[in-house]
Amino acid sequence: MLKGKVAVVTGSTSGIGLGIARALAAQGASVMLNGFGAAGEIEEIREGLERVSGAKAAHHPADMSKPAEIARLIEAAGSKLGSVDVLVNNAGIQFVAPVEEFPAEKWDAVLAVNLSASFHAIRAALPRMRRRGWGRVINIASSHGLTASVHKAAYVAAKHGLIGLTKVVALETALEPVTCNAICPGWVLTPLVQKQIDALAAREKLSPDAARRKLLADKQPSGEFATPEQIGGLSVFLCSPAADQIRGASLSVDGGWTAQ
Ligand code: NAD
Repeated sequence: MLKGKVAVVTGSTSGIGLGIARALAAQGASVMLNGFGAAGEIEEIREGLERVSGAKAAHHPADMSKPAEIARLIEAAGSKLGSVDVLVNNAGIQFVAPVEEFPAEKWDAVLAVNLSASFHAIRAALPRMRRRGWGRVINIASSHGLTASVHKAAYVAAKHGLIGLTKVVALETALEPVTCNAICPGWVLTPLVQKQIDALAAREKLSPDAARRKLLADKQPSGEFATPEQIGGLSVFLCSPAADQIRGASLSVDGGWTAQ
């Protein structure tokens, strides 16, 4: 379905972004990976994508907290792979502290990567989508874009903001074959969440397994993690013609978290 299309997936060296990159490659897309990690591991991921897609894959190391590097990432997708048809804004970080103790520099960092990076990437990619007459912007928000939890001031603010940005871009492209939507995952077992499980286990003296179960029980009625493959599957669907009129939506994949 995505043969001849180019997808940029930010933060795709791990977790959800990697699941999305693999799902898009499985549809034939040429993928520009982005994110941190060991060079050897990233090269293995890149080669794996090429095998699956039969198309070129590349990696760009842009730090998504830096607007100039984001512009270079989008340019590199154009020059190395041919364009940007699908942009998945996925890179994200977390920091947890009560609001009055929240370090200002952590607030700035979370807002930069989880919100401002998407603005800079969309701003750079949209003209390329318009030139080719088709495009998909998929913003990876969160259940925390729709509801809040204690001690996550920056993350919740950034993800709510990302859902707002999604709606504006959807309205500004409403008359065009370009769509913009957000996916709102609940708990997905990735390194980002593993850190929170480890902290919970240490704080409440729980085994890793008990901490995992408690984390889910507190928020996710299904009692099961969502998976990177499921988020990848929804991303592929949003690239399909069936999704042409899904615009400005926030689609939850959260085991019932936000139905409560
Ligand atoms: P992860 O830690 O496994 O992966 C994060 C990716 O982003 C990595 O590839 C990392 O290298 C990259 N990254 C981090 N900072 C970066 C920067 N400054 N520049 C470039 N790349 C950077 O995390 P994940 O759980 O897969 O999260 C991916 C997205 O999904 C995030 O936006 C997160 O907020 C969102 N999300 C995750 C969950 C969950 O339960 N895991 C739930 C809801 C939303």
